[in-house]
Amino acid sequence: MQTSFTPTQLRDPDFASSEAVIRKCVHCGFCTATCPTYLLLGDELASPRGRIYLMKEMLENEQEPTAEVVKHIDRCLSCLSCMTTCPSGVNYMHLVDHARAYIQDHYERPLHDRLLRDLIARTLPYPKRFRAALRLARLGRFMEGVFGRSGKTHALAAMLRLAPRRVPKPAPARNAPAVAARRGRVVLLQGCAESVLRPQIREATVRLLTRTGFDVDFAKREACCGALKWHMGLRDDGLAQARHNVDVWRRELTQGLDGIVITASGCGTTIKDYGFMLRDDPAYAEDAARISTMAVDVTELLFRSGLPAARTAPALDVAYQAPCSMQHGQSVQREPIELLAAAGFRVRQPQEAHICCGSAGTYNIFQPELAGQLGDRKAVNLDRLKADVIATGNIGCATQIEGRAAAPVVHTVELLDWATGGPCPVALAAVLTITKEDPCPS
Ligand code: SF4
Ligand code: SF4
Repeated sequence: MQTSFTPTQLRDPDFASSEAVIRKCVHCGFCTATCPTYLLLGDELASPRGRIYLMKEMLENEQEPTAEVVKHIDRCLSCLSCMTTCPSGVNYMHLVDHARAYIQDHYERPLHDRLLRDLIARTLPYPKRFRAALRLARLGRFMEGVFGRSGKTHALAAMLRLAPRRVPKPAPARNAPAVAARRGRVVLLQGCAESVLRPQIREATVRLLTRTGFDVDFAKREACCGALKWHMGLRDDGLAQARHNVDVWRRELTQGLDGIVITASGCGTTIKDYGFMLRDDPAYAEDAARISTMAVDVTELLFRSGLPAARTAPALDVAYQAPCSMQHGQSVQREPIELLAAAGFRVRQPQEAHICCGSAGTYNIFQPELAGQLGDRKAVNLDRLKADVIATGNIGCATQIEGRAAAPVVHTVELLDWATGGPCPVALAAVLTITKEDPCPS
């Protein structure tokens, strides 16, 4: 696509990056076929190509964003399916991240929208605050119907709906030494939402990695990876969290480190992008790039190192739900599937595996109607497999699918841990004791 950014604009690294991205787009439109919002709305402006055009106009002319443009950018899930499809290597992620930051700086959202965004940015990335908010949500659940009646408060209704009925006890972030022949030392990302909603994922990961031969440590004073704020366009806040973590992890590097392991793929995509996000900061660029190369999804690490020996595998059908941030954001596609198969599970993928479930960070809060349609569509495709259990690798997907699909939803590591000596995942045990004989061998 031809561009006409001025030399002054191109001296700004973000504009220069966006110009390079836009120039790669050849308008072919292949990406429209795999874009979830285009699939639902059939509108060119709800497609990657249409959005690229809108972003080009807005950035090139340094326009004040209109409500219409903001609507189409807000409706984008950042699922990055378009990046997997694009034959020209268009880095849509960097472009839309820039556009979101530009909108944040140049557009005044309605008051209710600003207040809600502020509330979410101040709550979700902080586990203690998030846990307290979930407890409050339990008490306020009766307001869901009232909030759902108005467009101004439907996001609040979505938050109440997504809040679990019971907030689990936190799992301790306690360093654990390898219990098999030692392969190295890793730091396990503590995360924010995942650690509050499903602490059992951390417990399963620690058991599995230590049985694989890794010392698993937790870095002191680590913060949220910054993905949530970054994708909301809160550029400075996102960068501050990235810098904070680079500071934390570079101390870990001095003690010998073989990987920063991530169990929520949404976080993994962002940490793998730290090198780009901090590329122009001389105090951080080099270490941020190094951190990005050390970031690894837990299934990537296990795929490389091999699983501990599997005991007699439970003969179960597993429907694998590929998170977009893993399959499109990190190109981690076959690792979870092959690991589950190696552990003895029969693994299948649903139709439209490449289409987002609608979770997408805070998307199911800010865009509940579209997110709901995508969630229901995903659940129908998963239910067609009639699997015993659904495995996924991102807490957002698990929250979105649970309750929509018939089968219980667990994290991939919970199944791998179980198959190699750990306990049966709680969500699965409750169902299997009814339907299978001796489903959870000890
Ligand atoms: S597939 Fe790539 S090159 Fe083609 S329109 Fe989409 S973004 Fe542009
Ligand atoms: S990131 Fe996803 S929703 Fe956004 S344009 Fe690309 S395919 Fe469509």
